[in-house]
Amino acid sequence: MATARMNTNQLPKGMAMQRWNGWGDESIRMPLPTAGQELLENGIGPGRRILDYPLEKLLERIPPSRMPLHPLISTDPKLRLDHSHGQSLPDWVGLRYGTLKRFVDGVARPGTVEEVEEILKFAAAHAMVVIPYGGGTSVVGHLDVPQSDRMVLSLSLERLNRLVHLNPENLLATFEAGVRGPQLEQQLNTGGFTLGHYPQSFEYSTLGGWVVTRSSGQQSRHFGRIEHLFAGGEVATPGGALKLPPFPASAAGPDLRQILLGSEGRIGVLTRATVKISHLPAKDAVYGCFFPSWEQGQHAVRAIAGAAIPFAMIRLSNPTETATNLALAGHHRQIALLKSYLRLRGLRAPEACMCLLGFSGSARITSAARREALAQVRRHKGVVVGKAMGNAWKKNRFRSAYLRNTLWDRGYAVDTLETAITWDKVTATMQGIENSITAALAARDERVHVFSHLSHVYPTGSSIYTTFVFRLFKRPEATLEAWQSAKQSACRTIVDAGGTISHQHGVGKDHRQYLQAEKGELGISTLKTVFDHLDPGQRMNPGKLVS
Ligand SMILES: Cc1cc2nc3c(=O)[nH]c(=O)nc-3n(C[C@H](O)[C@H](O)[C@H](O)COP(=O)(O)OP(=O)(O)OC[C@H]3O[C@@H](n4cnc5c(N)ncnc54)[C@H](O)[C@@H]3O)c2cc1C
Repeated sequence: MATARMNTNQLPKGMAMQRWNGWGDESIRMPLPTAGQELLENGIGPGRRILDYPLEKLLERIPPSRMPLHPLISTDPKLRLDHSHGQSLPDWVGLRYGTLKRFVDGVARPGTVEEVEEILKFAAAHAMVVIPYGGGTSVVGHLDVPQSDRMVLSLSLERLNRLVHLNPENLLATFEAGVRGPQLEQQLNTGGFTLGHYPQSFEYSTLGGWVVTRSSGQQSRHFGRIEHLFAGGEVATPGGALKLPPFPASAAGPDLRQILLGSEGRIGVLTRATVKISHLPAKDAVYGCFFPSWEQGQHAVRAIAGAAIPFAMIRLSNPTETATNLALAGHHRQIALLKSYLRLRGLRAPEACMCLLGFSGSARITSAARREALAQVRRHKGVVVGKAMGNAWKKNRFRSAYLRNTLWDRGYAVDTLETAITWDKVTATMQGIENSITAALAARDERVHVFSHLSHVYPTGSSIYTTFVFRLFKRPEATLEAWQSAKQSACRTIVDAGGTISHQHGVGKDHRQYLQAEKGELGISTLKTVFDHLDPGQRMNPGKLVS
């Protein structure tokens, strides 16, 4: 039987060099088509290019390490730099302008569970802070180095990347938690299986990182979010080993796996994770369609989500994101033809909304799901344009993240934020988020290019994912302040509307102040009590998630 494998030919080769001050493999460049450049220049003005701070100078500024010698710990300055940040906008500002201030004292790279335990004991003996490090792809300040009198150790999971056990009968696989997306999928695909967890950061993020940040993949509607895929595991905590057996289901009291999911390094190190796997789907196809307006598109995806149709993904772009996608697509002639066709069918910019609909599984189920879903699209006056747009999305599904490098080089900063909220509030909240970002930048006499999509739809509501692009300022403080005011007013809008502060990126440091709005005072103190019980010395990633 033919099966749909993940297209891995766009992934970095084993020895690819990772950018030290940006996203991804150094050899991969994502070009900005002329139409995209024009859209930005006309919308927000020409970018302000900033000269990159040189690596050598940044390395010179790293203070001497306070770390005592240990055979598993390195104090190499470049390694310390690489483990002192994630991928948030403040992290980029710190690297590109050379203003990063705090650095870990050392990086431990244990190769076995026993070595992780040994490192935790060593850290306890020397009263160190420990920050578990997966792939370093956090976008909300999970890996920020705290201001502390205590030594700070990054505990990297990079050597813990093996497949421990695959049980085809139980559809379970156990991996060491530092395994990255491509390594994990390649090992499962060999046996005809898949985990099916594809966050956009797939190339670099790790299984352990996904679990402790409650990550969501692009096809999570079909395969499940990571909390559904995570069956059990082993956690090395300062208080001892926490074992989480992979029962298919259990009524034996509260589920302790929920303490680990979303714990963001606060309770210990997830060393091994057992995940639920699936047979590789026979079919995996993505279809493109357009709606005459946002309202019709939103009604259609809500109807599809509520009708128990087994689709794998939906991504409904609002009009500005639709225009941006088309401008970034390149292929000038094909896009012109597409626009003419849509005009003939009565769909016009600036109202038209693009939508991608994905189906995975057996030929019979995917064709029934496609029939049902596309019937809903047509019922809401949508126009189906076939698979070409879906194929282009599949080809670039991990590549579009590289555009952030290109845009920064041209003088533009990009950030994203996201929430999930019930259907009755989706449109107003999306508009509120975009308006609050626009107003925050306008207060600094700057314009912003802001757009959104719905990409994880549920019967009860949807995630909202907003991207905003603004011009860099000459001074790093000004860029940071502009970002901060946009981020803060968008987060306040989310919380005031009753949305969650994160559908997928987690809390880290950047969302911490908004968590109480959804957990309540008692909820926050319950979390703190659990963390203190498992980590009495408050050494594990302090200051993240809750203060
Ligand atoms: C370009 C880009 C696209 C992204 N797309 C998505 C997306 O589609 N969906 C999504 O959900 N997220 C996405 N993210 C966010 C990020 O990739 C996820 O939060 C991811 O789960 C982080 O995994 P990581 O291995 O990189 O963890 P890290 O960034 O290394 O760490 C994140 C947190 O987890 C802790 N941690 C990591 N490993 C362990 C472990 N083994 N034990 C205990 N604690 C640990 C760290 O201490 C830290 O608090 C994206 C990020 C980028 C930069």
